[in-house]
Amino acid sequence: MSEPDLDPRAEAARIVAATRRWIERERAAGLDESALSAALVASREVSAESRVPSPAASVPMTDVDLFGAPVARPAAAAATEVPEGAGAPAIEYPFDDELHPAGAEARVQVVAASRGSLEQIAGEARACRACGLCETRTQAVPGVGSAESGIVFVGEAPGADEDRRGEPFVGRAGELLTRIIQAMDDARLIPGVPLRRDTVYICNVLKCRPPENRNPLPHEVEACAPFLKRQLEALRPRVICCLGKFAAELLVGVKGTIGGLRGRVYRYRGSKLIVTYHPAACLRNPAYKRPVWEDMQLLAREYLAD
Ligand code: URA
Repeated sequence: MSEPDLDPRAEAARIVAATRRWIERERAAGLDESALSAALVASREVSAESRVPSPAASVPMTDVDLFGAPVARPAAAAATEVPEGAGAPAIEYPFDDELHPAGAEARVQVVAASRGSLEQIAGEARACRACGLCETRTQAVPGVGSAESGIVFVGEAPGADEDRRGEPFVGRAGELLTRIIQAMDDARLIPGVPLRRDTVYICNVLKCRPPENRNPLPHEVEACAPFLKRQLEALRPRVICCLGKFAAELLVGVKGTIGGLRGRVYRYRGSKLIVTYHPAACLRNPAYKRPVWEDMQLLAREYLAD
């Protein structure tokens, strides 16, 4: 009798699901968390090998002006292009996720439902006097964007430009973040999902600028974290991207360097979460741009997977 043909995506999903079930059983039995993480990583690697190559997996890297100059378009995305007027190319997603913006009405509902909550949270952040930063800042900087793409970028705290304008990531580091998002869109890392400042959500751990841009203090993070957590609850992101150490340590829940934390996929409630270097770190050391671009490709792969 001949072997049935296995759909590689279905097989990959089966492997990951079986590993997750095993992990839940072993966790209940008290097995070491690091062994469980290693098992999940291993299953993801098997899964990645059997996955049909996605555009995000095949984007070539550019060198110096990674986020400034036009980024090469991946061959797979180019192949799906059709002549003008022939209708949009059909994009098949390898999952049926109610949170996927192109996959269901659910994302439209998340966008609509999140607006009121985000405004409410912003109002409360503007009125907040919990940690003392309100004494030195010009205005609070709650966040900008929407739940439309299902991607949220979380930075550290507003700087001088943000404090003046009331919008996160509008200074030099912000310009670089905007170029990163634009480069992801140009490269069609997530086909069918437009990536712009207004389709992603951008915010910070702290909503008020610390004087002289010093690092956030533990009591400030503790006082401000509930705003971020409520924003994430409202936005229900598919992928959260932590920009730098403060966002990573808060949302991953462990201390560490970005070099040690990046390159892996974490979970924050129902969302996937990745960690990368802060754009300000890339400005200080342009060698970080390459790993950041790799992380954006990881973000896209995880967005499209499972
Ligand atoms: N750095 C941040 O972490 N956030 C901003 O909004 C600007 C710079």
